Amino acid sequence: MTETRNTVILGSGCAGLTAALYTARAGLQPLVLEGHEPGGQLSITTLVENFPGWPEGIQGPELIENMKKQAARFGAEYETAHLHTAELGTHPMKLKTSRGEITTRTLIIASGASARWLGLPSEQALIGHGVSSCATCDGFFFRDKEIAVVGGGDSAMEEAIFLTRFANKVTVLHRRENFRASKIMLERAMAHPKIVLRTNTVVDEVLGVDEKEVKGLKLRDVKNGEHDELTVNGLFLGIGHEPNAKMFAGQIDLDEEGYIKTKSNVFTTRNGEVVPGVYACGDVQDRRYRQAITAAGSGCMAALETEKYLEEHGH
Ligand code: NAP
Repeated sequence: MTETRNTVILGSGCAGLTAALYTARAGLQPLVLEGHEPGGQLSITTLVENFPGWPEGIQGPELIENMKKQAARFGAEYETAHLHTAELGTHPMKLKTSRGEITTRTLIIASGASARWLGLPSEQALIGHGVSSCATCDGFFFRDKEIAVVGGGDSAMEEAIFLTRFANKVTVLHRRENFRASKIMLERAMAHPKIVLRTNTVVDEVLGVDEKEVKGLKLRDVKNGEHDELTVNGLFLGIGHEPNAKMFAGQIDLDEEGYIKTKSNVFTTRNGEVVPGVYACGDVQDRRYRQAITAAGSGCMAALETEKYLEEHGH
């Protein structure tokens, strides 16, 4: 039987690593489980200019690496493992992972939300080279350029409107005739002189893989099957996010879209009652702000609550 951990942190993005730093400095020797996207969304972005403390900006992967080292300096440990199931009702809790069973007194869920992608090989090859899923992160790099946004919901409209601050022209590409976006957002986008909305259109290929930068899009009209090309310098995906919380369904409360419901910022609940020792932070419980700094802030809160809980339970 392996020793029981004081705390296990699920996820190694901004929220998880901040929780690791705080719990490590509290002497709790946290174990961070790095899943299928180590480093979280920051690790797939380029220059981060809105994380305070970096006047010239910092590359997302470098910021994550720094956070990782900072927490390791105080005793945080890292393991690459996927969580299969968790028994949160037993104390200590039991986590079944791809690396075996782990027992822990507390759990900090910082498993994030993954941006949805189209799944095209050309799109995947150009992530960070003109393809992005985050307008607030990367819009700045498209000053006086032409860009396309895929999606027909509020995220796509919001991204398109935001991107008009930088781009000359933003083409919204939606796969259906009718938009899912709220009336107000849609009207705002439609009224904007820099935004063009194109319906019944899908992206078949992102052009520019050999040049390592987006040169355009190969589009298909889904009604008549005709192809054409759109010259753009950037492609933004606004087709939603998937919270990585499915493995907790039935054990903690999730909202209708699968995000973890939290009380007083980071407390998880089951049927509305607080689940002792289980906290959630970062994008897995935040569909509103989704910023590196807000994720870090909630990671700090989860760590402080963990520390308090362990203290109250004599550990
Ligand atoms: P969403 O409402 O689920 O919309 C996703 C859009 O992406 C849909 O139009 C969908 O097309 C399209 N899509 C999904 N997969 C696709 C694919 N593989 N290829 C092409 N298109 C694809 O997601 P969201 O826009 O992120 O919004 C999520 C929630 O947050 C909503 O409740 C929204 O109101 C809210 N939100 C609000 C604001 C705001 O008010 N400021 C901003 C952002 C988000 P179909 O329509 O054909 O399914």
